Amino acid sequence: MAELPDKRTAFMDWYLAVVDGANLTDKRYPVKGMNVWTAYGFRARRNLDTVLIREIEATGSEAVEFPTLIPATEFAKEKEHIKGFDAQVYWVTKGGLSELDVPLVLRPTSETAMYPIFALWVRSHRDLPLNVYQIVNTFRYETKTTRPFLRVREIHFFEEHTCQANEAHATARVESNRGAFRKMAEAFALPYLPIRRPEWDKFPGAFYTVALDIPVGEARTLQIGSIHHYRENFSRPYGIQYEAADGAQQFVHQTTFGLSERLLGAILAVHGDQKGAVFPTAIAPYQVVVVPIPGTDAGDGPLRAATEIAERLRRHGVRVHLDGGDERPGAKYYRWEMAGAPLRLEVGRREAESRSATAADRLGRKSKVSFDHLEHEVGERLAEFDRALLERARSAFASSFSVARSVDQLVGSTTVRVISWCGSEECGHRIETAIDGALLGTPEEPLPIPVGEPGPCAVCGTAESTRWALAGRPL
Ligand SMILES: [Zn+2]
Repeated sequence: MAELPDKRTAFMDWYLAVVDGANLTDKRYPVKGMNVWTAYGFRARRNLDTVLIREIEATGSEAVEFPTLIPATEFAKEKEHIKGFDAQVYWVTKGGLSELDVPLVLRPTSETAMYPIFALWVRSHRDLPLNVYQIVNTFRYETKTTRPFLRVREIHFFEEHTCQANEAHATARVESNRGAFRKMAEAFALPYLPIRRPEWDKFPGAFYTVALDIPVGEARTLQIGSIHHYRENFSRPYGIQYEAADGAQQFVHQTTFGLSERLLGAILAVHGDQKGAVFPTAIAPYQVVVVPIPGTDAGDGPLRAATEIAERLRRHGVRVHLDGGDERPGAKYYRWEMAGAPLRLEVGRREAESRSATAADRLGRKSKVSFDHLEHEVGERLAEFDRALLERARSAFASSFSVARSVDQLVGSTTVRVISWCGSEECGHRIETAIDGALLGTPEEPLPIPVGEPGPCAVCGTAESTRWALAGRPL
């Protein structure tokens, strides 16, 4: 059993080794950047989707599904959008042996698939708001090195698209999405910051973009999702208009909210440690793994007791796995720690006789749970585990930021830097060059460290309309 590379000093090697060790995906599929979801990885993904669906539907969104292929003619209607995606799309140009009259794009995102249809669905103010989402695969021809979950060419993707009566309603939808994401992130035990992207880094065609960013050590950041306000930028070219109560024709204001399998990468990156993956209970493929310890004189008592408690927990709604194979217990412990199972229950001869199991959680804490109060006590251990995991993530989150007082202080940064910025693109690019990364934008929520007032721009020295900005190195 090889040791994992050091998470702090060799992050990407560590990450790749954890993804492999936990057996979440098979990278041997013969198309680069398109990976196979294993049974274990698929369980994690399905649990993740369950959280997304629960929280978005709580805000009145409904599931739909649009086709994967988009006609080039529709794809090209919004100029900024096509410019932003031109270099990343896969084309379908033949049907059988014949060239297609209108080439088709494999969706990189679904604005241009949905909006011609939205124009048919939205007729009157009574059709608004239109809030729909889909969870589908999207395709982007990535030219950078692909990484499982973090940068792939076939992406498991959640996208909400909405039409609102006016700009204020669309702004309110952006707020609603932020609230939904706050609840999702709670389930993932992931601290994050919503950050308003600078003009030059917003989504192609958006009026503005709020990205959801997570620091993952050193000055690295991971964008795990984004919320966009489109104003009328898409509704005009696609003709999505409605008759207002006063009879006037109005264009809708639109928003979108996108999340992807990157969330799974972020969960691994933030919670994982030198023993492997660590899953919060909401995502864990198995929340509890039961390991019988046969021993030489134990008879079948441990296996029978382990089977009993696994069965009871399963009936109680816990995702549980009974690992009754003939490997050594030590090998099983190692494997389930690598795979990130939150709680392990060990049942040997003594435990079977005293009707209590040894519980070891993935953060290394041990206790006993009695068979008499099994469901209740396991529930408590899982809740305690989630709390401790969030606590650990929060403390790492807070230490991931620090203030830079000058551009020079950005060079060689080992944390995400908080820096005073006047908002000009020129100063923004100076900041990006100095940190050798990106100006992530301006935080939309309080920073996890005390920062006070921003003071003059750290680049040009102007005191006019300065704000705190974040600078880091996006993965
Ligand atoms: Zn400036």
